[in-house]
Amino acid sequence: MDELKKYTEGTIVEKKITLPEKQAIRADIPNFADKLIEIADEERKFSYCPYSKFSVGAALLCMDGSVYTGCNVETAAFIGICAEKNALFKAVSEGKRGFLAIAVSGGAYEQPPKACTPCGSCRQALTEFVDPEEFAVIIRNEAGEIKSFTLSELLPYSFGPSNLM
Ligand code: ZN
Repeated sequence: MDELKKYTEGTIVEKKITLPEKQAIRADIPNFADKLIEIADEERKFSYCPYSKFSVGAALLCMDGSVYTGCNVETAAFIGICAEKNALFKAVSEGKRGFLAIAVSGGAYEQPPKACTPCGSCRQALTEFVDPEEFAVIIRNEAGEIKSFTLSELLPYSFGPSNLM
């Protein structure tokens, strides 16, 4: 269990962040939500979605301030990956642990984005690596308004690493 705790708490991240720093960054999320959505919009252009024709881009903010992006990638065998998991797995595979927020931009291919929240599978994957009470999921609705939810609002009573400790 200590091993699992080590991985989920982020001893691998290059910059160990203190609690006051973490709180300051979280308090600042409304100020950079627009920027994170813009990055997700840009990433959405790389989506490979010939089957669903629904393109999604995601931008994941790490505790060290870096941002990892991901788009959805589909295959003819209907095995693919969502934008959110793509961004998360890219970051984790490069040693990142501890994340503050993810912005998601999605909609019908080559159409303006619509309100698009992570699917259930992505919500579960994010739960593995974040504090669901504090991690922010940022979307923009059809009216162009930015909305922010905590992960626990989108996945209440979730089953995560703490259930195994
Ligand atoms: Zn998903």
